[in-house]
Amino acid sequence: MTVDAVSSTTGSDNQRVNNNDSNELSSNMQHHLLYTLGCFDHQKAKDWSQALALAVRDHLMHDWQQTRLKETTYETKRGFYLSLEFLLGRSMNNAVMSMGLRSSAGRALQELGQAYEELESEERDAGLGNGGLGRLAACFMDSCAALALPVRGYGIRYEYGMFHQSIREGRQFEQPDHWLMAGNPWEIEQADRTCTVKFYGRSEFYVNDAGASCKRWVDTHDVLAVPYDMPIPGYKNGVVNTLRLWKAAATHEFNLQDFNDGDYADAVAQKNLAEQITMVLYPNDASENGKELRLRQQYFLASASLQDVISEWCVKHGDDFSQFAKFHCFQLNDTHPTLAVAELMRLLIDEHGLEWDEAWEITTGTMAYTNHTLLPEALERWPVRLLGELLPRLLDIIYEINARFLAEVAHRWPGDVERQRRMSLIEEGQEPHVRMAYLGIVGSFSVNGVAALHSELLTRGLFRDFFALWPEKFNNKTNGVTPRRWLAHCNPGLKQLIDSCIGKEWVCELDRLEHLKNYADDAAFQQQWMDVKQDNKRRLAALVKDKCGVDFDEHFIFDIQVKRIHEYKRQLLNVLHVIHLYDKITRGDAEQVAPRCVLIGGKAAPGYFLAKLTIKLINNVAAVINSDERVSERLRLAFLPNYNVSAMEIITPAADLSEQISTAGKEASGTGNMKFMMNGALTIGTYDGANIEILDAVGEEHFFLFGLKEDQIVKHRMQHSPSSIVENDLDLARVIGLLQCGHFSMFEEGIFQPLIDSVLNPHDPWMTAADFRSYVDAQQRAADAYENKKLWTRSSILNTAMSGKFSSDRTIREYAQDIWKIV
Ligand SMILES: *Cc1c(COP(=O)(O)O)cnc(C)c1O
Repeated sequence: MTVDAVSSTTGSDNQRVNNNDSNELSSNMQHHLLYTLGCFDHQKAKDWSQALALAVRDHLMHDWQQTRLKETTYETKRGFYLSLEFLLGRSMNNAVMSMGLRSSAGRALQELGQAYEELESEERDAGLGNGGLGRLAACFMDSCAALALPVRGYGIRYEYGMFHQSIREGRQFEQPDHWLMAGNPWEIEQADRTCTVKFYGRSEFYVNDAGASCKRWVDTHDVLAVPYDMPIPGYKNGVVNTLRLWKAAATHEFNLQDFNDGDYADAVAQKNLAEQITMVLYPNDASENGKELRLRQQYFLASASLQDVISEWCVKHGDDFSQFAKFHCFQLNDTHPTLAVAELMRLLIDEHGLEWDEAWEITTGTMAYTNHTLLPEALERWPVRLLGELLPRLLDIIYEINARFLAEVAHRWPGDVERQRRMSLIEEGQEPHVRMAYLGIVGSFSVNGVAALHSELLTRGLFRDFFALWPEKFNNKTNGVTPRRWLAHCNPGLKQLIDSCIGKEWVCELDRLEHLKNYADDAAFQQQWMDVKQDNKRRLAALVKDKCGVDFDEHFIFDIQVKRIHEYKRQLLNVLHVIHLYDKITRGDAEQVAPRCVLIGGKAAPGYFLAKLTIKLINNVAAVINSDERVSERLRLAFLPNYNVSAMEIITPAADLSEQISTAGKEASGTGNMKFMMNGALTIGTYDGANIEILDAVGEEHFFLFGLKEDQIVKHRMQHSPSSIVENDLDLARVIGLLQCGHFSMFEEGIFQPLIDSVLNPHDPWMTAADFRSYVDAQQRAADAYENKKLWTRSSILNTAMSGKFSSDRTIREYAQDIWKIV
């Protein structure tokens, strides 16, 4: 069966067709085809897809207007989610499902000779993010709308989103993702809300009308920020929130000198430089890259968003900011937008005439910072020199914040100069840097981690000094994912089965899934549950066949690891296990290896050598395994190219086993783990991030736990001796031997040596060798458990049943109650 055929059998939301909706969609589609899109004839699927999107958008405009009008009455406090990334994926189904239009759209299209599923798959993913952090922002937007919370997202409208990955000769190649080329029917330009963002120039003293000495930022190079709004529909509640994305544009002023010299065309061409700011998303996940253009993006977002909020406020309140903090809260998604702390100070003081203390009270009363990582290489620091050049007035303000802050530290711990040095916003050295995380902490009233272990490690490690000073600022908000996209939409078969047992309310109250426990032992229900999983596995198998040319057998266990390729996520450990199974089969123990299909997917940052080499290794091992008939009877391996949100929507429902195998203490939370659990996969995982909370929720007997825990890793690190581990473990020795002798690199001698070296390095930060045996044993337990289909299915049902906590609705309720104070 083809991918489309499977979804079309289950696509309807078992609602009745509404004739009004159906007729309106139909006539609006035809109207847009001609009058908006200018398609005179030969309409293609992509034209129909855009026409449908526009017709669906028409349908939500009225609710969007009503929601917007309510926001600006300032009757309630509002939240603003500032993020450099929103990994939205497709918008069509989300809008159609939220407005209950699925059946009506299906009917309207049928009459026009079109198929909904086909048009849906024509939409390009909005890939405005790298991975977990960006997808979290998208899930949060969905939950805020579903909960009818007055929250607006602010981000950047990148011309080029996350690159497209293709694989040639086993290696990753990157192609630019010009996703806007065919037009984006979900956005509306709001040119009249354009604002100006300043760069370069210098800050100077002056005396104002009242005789006070002040500072101002002059001789700047200005860039326009033009907002594009995307609707975020709430689930069947009449709410449509806004995601406002900024595009950079040149100002209308020309360099008159060039103009007068006759270089008119050059003067105009120079304007393009401004537009570079929002040209491309930096494809680095969990590591900074330190480029000036990236800093420009960060300031551009912070400044445009704050100016936008303030200008809305001033329409009603003029320059009276006394109530501003009562009505606003800004959530900073990682350090990327933390220049907002200094920018809000600048706007309040320089542009609106507030005194420092008043401005500081507003800033620290409205800013809240979320930390996403413990990896030192991901902690952003910007050279003071660069900040001084690009944003001189902000550097002044950061210095002033730091001076006042260090005075507070000195007051609290008199004479402790070492502590002042440690806590300073400025890291001294040859090239002094601003520590962005510290700016976030000092400027915010709330600092949160994204899973229980992560938040605790922050207070014990990275932010210990700040925790000692302000324990009340620190809190945890365990991540979640939206059950609309990650269960109701992506797994229509399971949705129907669940609906038929416990009703439909679970879509917005995910804790209700717990009622499925009552069916976990019901043989008929188990059979239906298995049937849905088999269908989903066939759908994924069709995708794997299409994209990788590998045959996946839906009777094998589907063992899946999809996420960014990163050393700490340990795709390498997964491959070592696959090689071990290969070795077992080829040395004659085939009977002991349960049939298994292993799928790995994910993008590597273009400059990340070891991550890219890991992709090559996976592909080379796959080539050997899949072409050896003795082996492929029991074991298949595929690397799925271009893992993205839409691929994940096919992958998650089909997984039996979810690989969450990061080195303990390194994965802040993970959210892929939650999507898999929700869709009935069992997890094989380390005691890390939200895995711990998944394990707590579902119970140890339904989870394959392995590996050293975080405290054991810390203790073990000093004595880590991969060579003695290999000496004492014949299986690992054989795996390393196969790699070493070039079994997977026949015509490319020695190419995998850097990966072998990383495992054998006593200073391996990821401790891969230390967890190998425990991982192999856990995989054996998983394989054994899969033999008993009834018990496995029971565990699968219980995983879904206990996944309620991992709804981003729960997470957002906690943000709204504890931090934003908007409910
Ligand atoms: C959920 C998701 C992620 C995050 O996965 P982790 O396993 O938590 O790292 C990354 N990319 C995409 C496309 C996702 O849907």
